[in-house]
Amino acid sequence: MADRKLVLLIADGLADRPVIDYDYKTPLEYANTPNMDRLAKGGLVGQLDPISPGVRPGSDVANLALLGYDPARFYTGRGALEALGAGIDLGPNDIAFRANFATVDDDFRVLDRRAGRIKKGASKLAKVVDDVKIDGVHGVKLIFKATTDHRGVLVLRGEKLSRMVSDVDPKEEGLKVGTARATDGSEEAKRTAQALNEFVKRSHEALREHPLNTQRVSDDEPAANIVITRGAGTMPALPSLKSRNDLRGACIAGTAMIKGLALAAGLDLVDVKGATGGFSTDYEAKAKATIEAAKDKNFILVHVKAPDLAGHDKDFKGKVKIIEELDGLVGSLIDEVDIGSNYVALTADHTTSVYSGEHTGDPVPIVIGGPDVPASRVTKLSEAAAARGNLGRIRGLDLMPILTDVIGRSRLYGS
Ligand code: ZN
Ligand code: ZN
Repeated sequence: MADRKLVLLIADGLADRPVIDYDYKTPLEYANTPNMDRLAKGGLVGQLDPISPGVRPGSDVANLALLGYDPARFYTGRGALEALGAGIDLGPNDIAFRANFATVDDDFRVLDRRAGRIKKGASKLAKVVDDVKIDGVHGVKLIFKATTDHRGVLVLRGEKLSRMVSDVDPKEEGLKVGTARATDGSEEAKRTAQALNEFVKRSHEALREHPLNTQRVSDDEPAANIVITRGAGTMPALPSLKSRNDLRGACIAGTAMIKGLALAAGLDLVDVKGATGGFSTDYEAKAKATIEAAKDKNFILVHVKAPDLAGHDKDFKGKVKIIEELDGLVGSLIDEVDIGSNYVALTADHTTSVYSGEHTGDPVPIVIGGPDVPASRVTKLSEAAAARGNLGRIRGLDLMPILTDVIGRSRLYGS
């Protein structure tokens, strides 16, 4: 059999709930999506519970499950995935954290968790933070790197550290910066918490008088005067998709966490200029890169972050617009990757409700198009149509077995 190729497009937070003000339609239902509809009509269509019914997943555990890794077994915290995706070579003893530049007052009360979503100068400030020394805990070094806007990653490197420490980021403005604590009471976690607390204090000392911040204050912008952290993690030990499913894969994504996950799963990263992991991602560039990658790979994971952002912003119309743009990408993939002989699957990692601005525990639509796939004859892709589809209701962990079987790469169970 020819090497059939599979493109898996994960649209972050694509699914939604019906909204009364829009005639009980979801953004996906409201949007004009001729290409997704075309894919759905000729393909397998169903519902997918990323983890299990009613569980509200974070993107990290949901995407792990979609790639076939049981989070209960393989999840070791989001920070590590972000650090890998940011290009940090993580060692087995490293503890990685998601980090934000934030604005605090003299009492360490958080005025802005994102320091006004600082863009300019973040990498200069990151250099200063990277030079911070932790003197109070013997033998702990640190690496700090800015990623996008106010975001960054912190890695603590040394012996006898643990990821079982609480977040410093209070996740709410008006509250004080938290004190990291050992969540399991172990000596390693206590040591890590101590190092982390010292780091946060020193980041403030290093940043508060920085000329860039003096400038920001005089421009009436919030100073990026501290780094706060959350999501401690260690390097996950994922068996590669090659060893598990015989998939030679590549990943096209702008989001650091997804890039990290892809690397950990043994996929090659394809750098796409304009794939930002933000609102303004370049869909045409992503389509081109996918088609190019499909020449010598048989599995291409494409991730689009924007629907989730619009969901968190509670922006119905914005989400509709993003879905319509995304539909263009689906169209290019269907035509160029050629679902006459290859496969294109589309799903989401979870629902991000424009009503609540939060992830919900609802099932998301899953569509698999390609040769010899039973046609659902669904005419318009939507959450409701997915419930009437021909695939039924599956869990995130079922996806890879189904996909590998559809493309003819599954192993026989038994003999
Ligand atoms: Zn997500
Ligand atoms: Zn989200």
